[in-house]
Amino acid sequence: MQEKGTISIHTENIFPIIKKFLYSDNEIFLRELVSNAVDAVQKVKRLAALGHYNGEVGEGLVQVAFDAENKTITISDNGIGMTADEIKKYINQIAFSGATEFLDKFKEAKDANELIGKFGLGFYSAFMVADKVEINTKSYQDDSVPARWICDGSTEFEISAGDRETRGTDIILHVNAESEEFLDKYKLQGILDKYCKFLPITVQFGTKTEWAEDGEDEEGKPKHKDVEVPNYINNTTPIWTKTPTELTDEDYLNFYKELYPMSEEPLFWIHLNVDYPFNLTGVLYFPKVKNDMDMQRNKIKLFSRQVFITDEVKDVVPEFLMLLHGVLDSPDIPLNVSRSFLQADSNVKKINSYITRKVADKLNELYKADRKAYEEKWPDISLFVKYGMITEDKFYDKAKDFALLTNTKKEHFTFTEYHEKVEANQKDKDGTVVYIYASDTAKQDSFIQSAGKKGYDVLLMDSPIDTHFVSKLEQRVEKTNLKRVDADVADKLIDKGETISLVLSDDQKQKVKDIFEKSINDAHMKVEVEALNPGEQPVTVTMDEFMRRMKDMAKLGGGMSFYGAMPDNYKVAINGNHKLIDKMLKADEVLQGQIAKQAYDLAKLSQGMLTGAELTEFVNRSIELI
Ligand code: ADP
Repeated sequence: MQEKGTISIHTENIFPIIKKFLYSDNEIFLRELVSNAVDAVQKVKRLAALGHYNGEVGEGLVQVAFDAENKTITISDNGIGMTADEIKKYINQIAFSGATEFLDKFKEAKDANELIGKFGLGFYSAFMVADKVEINTKSYQDDSVPARWICDGSTEFEISAGDRETRGTDIILHVNAESEEFLDKYKLQGILDKYCKFLPITVQFGTKTEWAEDGEDEEGKPKHKDVEVPNYINNTTPIWTKTPTELTDEDYLNFYKELYPMSEEPLFWIHLNVDYPFNLTGVLYFPKVKNDMDMQRNKIKLFSRQVFITDEVKDVVPEFLMLLHGVLDSPDIPLNVSRSFLQADSNVKKINSYITRKVADKLNELYKADRKAYEEKWPDISLFVKYGMITEDKFYDKAKDFALLTNTKKEHFTFTEYHEKVEANQKDKDGTVVYIYASDTAKQDSFIQSAGKKGYDVLLMDSPIDTHFVSKLEQRVEKTNLKRVDADVADKLIDKGETISLVLSDDQKQKVKDIFEKSINDAHMKVEVEALNPGEQPVTVTMDEFMRRMKDMAKLGGGMSFYGAMPDNYKVAINGNHKLIDKMLKADEVLQGQIAKQAYDLAKLSQGMLTGAELTEFVNRSIELI
């Protein structure tokens, strides 16, 4: 029995195109062929379970082997096998409406995955690495005749009698010259490790041929010996396929270690398991994250029925959860489509909001179960939570009940608790409650102390994300304003409508202003003589909250480049009621200038603003003065 024919597509040179186009991703040939083999094994199992197959099912097994000398890679399975007719039906008629369509579309396709899925080219991905592909197969059906199919990458194929004696299929790839890198134990093992590590059927990998220790053959080449050592076996039942009740904490931690051998232990995890209205399983881990937002991205692995697909989960997982680690497995995520299609897919949207909800529920549960333990974890999770609250309103609505605010004394409060704490003392004359925060406790210490003297509480907002978080809080917490502790002198941070009277006359006030302006001599430093508490600092340098925040945003690349380009403008608040000002007015002109300059420098010094030549000058002047 021998038959020749033409694969039913109408373009002669489709394989060179497939080969060329898919070249960059060519390692996925192994994923495709091993997946087919796994499917074939699962089909036998299913037929047996349904009573349509009465033969011995045995243990399902997929074997991958290579032969460096003969330049072949073989993928074998003891699955369903194919008859010659089935080969014609499933392999020869490429599952797409015609080569023309393929040729049209491949211009737009972004990557190989997209093409392979769309056109059912799984099997044909073999031609990315092989000149010639052989199928040697025997169907599970009683009295089936083994069949062999050979195709050399043109559209010509040949079907003849095969020699496989047992049920199943061997796919033999005759590796082409450009792909010889795949004839390597570590290379193949690496690919299997990436894509096939958690397949539901045992996948064994063993080198078929190795160089013998010694001896030469007739042609003087080193001798080979055949060895079949399975040196790679996958884990067929990874934890996400099990139910949470079967698993201990140790199982989760061990799996985490298996995925990320170099990482610190995660804080906690969420086991996802839904089958309606979409199918999704997975385990998401919360790693310890302090500050570096980008460091840990792309750590979630996306699987489809235990086949690894990608670690680009951008559209499936909400942006703020990209920092999580773990695995997601869903056959309902369209894997072979372009990104814009993916974003619009209704399952993907549902999965996205399901994950968001699950994460919120988990955090709420932890908060409710043990407040103290939760507070201890807070520094590690606050980044996620804040990021989530900023970017997803739905998440904000849930998280506002368990998100914590931390003050400079390291005390934690829920939003409600905090509002109640400061409401009485930090309300301005219009009824707006002003939350005061510090971004750098060392630099802003003098301000924090001044605020403390007024009985104000100071929140700690010292991570890069806090610039945005502060704005978000202001938008969402009603009748609340946030001001950084150095946005104004303590007396003016919260305008309660109380007026302190100024001891200076109008003339004296003008005189003080002139003296300071002259000795500071900087257009970006706006001098103002104010009526402040005599106990307050004589000079304070502040930057308006709005301006500073806009500039911070610009620094973070928040599209506020207009503000970023503006010079730093400050207010120099002179406390007209301080006794130093009185003393200054009574001094001679030279000393007046010196006092003004000295007081100004001291203000800058206490805020870490005095550096370089200015600092040196200040030190020299101070020495002279003593
Ligand atoms: P898909 O897997 O998306 O259907 P493929 O091109 O990968 O597309 O495979 C086409 C068909 O060939 C499969 O649906 C299956 O019927 C058959 N096939 C491929 N590999 C095997 C195998 N190892 N054993 C049995 N049948 C197979």
